[in-house]
Amino acid sequence: MREELQSNYDTRAASLWKNILEILKSKISETSFRTWFSPTKGVSLLEDRIIVEAPNPFWIEWIEEHYLSVINETVKGLGLNIEVVFRPAPKKDPEKKKKSSPIIYTPGPRLNRRYTFESFVTGKSNEFAYAACVAVAKSPARQYNPLFIYGGVGLGKTHLLQAIGNYLYEKRKNLNIYYTSAETFMNELINAIQKRKTVDFKLKMRKIDVLLLDDVQFLADKEMLQEEIFHTFNSLYDADKQIVMTSDRPPKHIYSLEERLVSRFQWGLVVDIKPPELETRIAITKRKMMEERLYLPEDVVLFIAKNIRSNVREIEGALRRLKAYISITEADINLDIAKDVLHDLIKSEERVTIEEIMDAVAKEFGITSKILRSKTRKKEVALARQIAMYLARNIVGMSLKGIGTFFGGRDHSTVIHSIEKIEEMRTNPKISTVLRRIEARLKKL
Ligand code: ADP
Ligand code: MG
Repeated sequence: MREELQSNYDTRAASLWKNILEILKSKISETSFRTWFSPTKGVSLLEDRIIVEAPNPFWIEWIEEHYLSVINETVKGLGLNIEVVFRPAPKKDPEKKKKSSPIIYTPGPRLNRRYTFESFVTGKSNEFAYAACVAVAKSPARQYNPLFIYGGVGLGKTHLLQAIGNYLYEKRKNLNIYYTSAETFMNELINAIQKRKTVDFKLKMRKIDVLLLDDVQFLADKEMLQEEIFHTFNSLYDADKQIVMTSDRPPKHIYSLEERLVSRFQWGLVVDIKPPELETRIAITKRKMMEERLYLPEDVVLFIAKNIRSNVREIEGALRRLKAYISITEADINLDIAKDVLHDLIKSEERVTIEEIMDAVAKEFGITSKILRSKTRKKEVALARQIAMYLARNIVGMSLKGIGTFFGGRDHSTVIHSIEKIEEMRTNPKISTVLRRIEARLKKL
């Protein structure tokens, strides 16, 4: 009888937890949900609490740190007055464990063969980063270790990172090269934890000779991942192994990146890639045309290079589109056709509205767009407002008077002062990163 009652309670625990999860699902991202909550199970229900099993203590720590408040909110929302208590699932018997298959890692460095030093066009904006990458490829773990490359979207960071890999893969067959993005690194780590293969995972990391880690800005706010990277980093560095990383911003500006990681990232060389100048954009366009076996008249090349300024991937997109146009219509491309075919790509920068700018700036600074238009003189708001004015002028093309009116009736000289100030500060790395990120946000619209 007692047992029956007990099992009845357990079924209730399972279904109640399922109900809670159903609602929780809509409150957090799908990936987080799948990663952290799929393996949890409601196992028993007591008067004032529900016991939920999760794979291990580490898991519980993570859930409690990141999701406890949303879980509690969900429970309350269901009108329940119970506490959710997590406990580690009992270990499976060792026999079963032995039978489970080992994690199979993809062999080879997972590189795109197209990304080589030869196919990378250099100019003032990227030659320093390029030279540093070549130096690292020629003698890994000698001069620049770690090498940290940062810059905006589509400026060739992944290309350069993989060029190092391709070069070494070709010339130094004995080296164990490992290219991965920080995000994939995290997924593999989670996978290893789920399958209880963390030791294997760590061993594998320790065997790497050259670690090429892409998009480390993904580490922002991910303590567990930072911890693991920190250990991997230390053991590789101590063993004189080369580490190269890329990010869309400098180490200091990766939000909540632990101090000790920031300082380690800066031990070696930190270089940035800037948007290419017109000359380089022309050269890139021509290079890509050659690769695509595409012929375009000189004025069309210039039109593309002049108008697509801040993202090389978009130049590639424009060329691909023209190529498709040719193959469909079998017509030659002239300037008018190019303008027509590419008009939305080209216009995207111009078509940005002041509201979109306000939203993007507000997001970047974590404030509301309303406060941007207010009179407050708080330092952080003032800077954000100056940037918004600068962009209103340069991207939307608003008049000085229009800007003044829009920002709560400021006079003409205040507006000029703001715009000039940001122009002066453009070379300041912090400001240029902020501007780049805002511009990237605007592009995504
Ligand atoms: P990021 O990683 O910085 O976002 P990618 O390395 O993915 O940018 O570059 C986007 C595309 O632009 C790639 O196809 C890359 O080959 C190309 N690209 C970027 N910069 C250059 C360059 N200087 N020369 C040739 N191709 C480039
Ligand atoms: Mg990239």
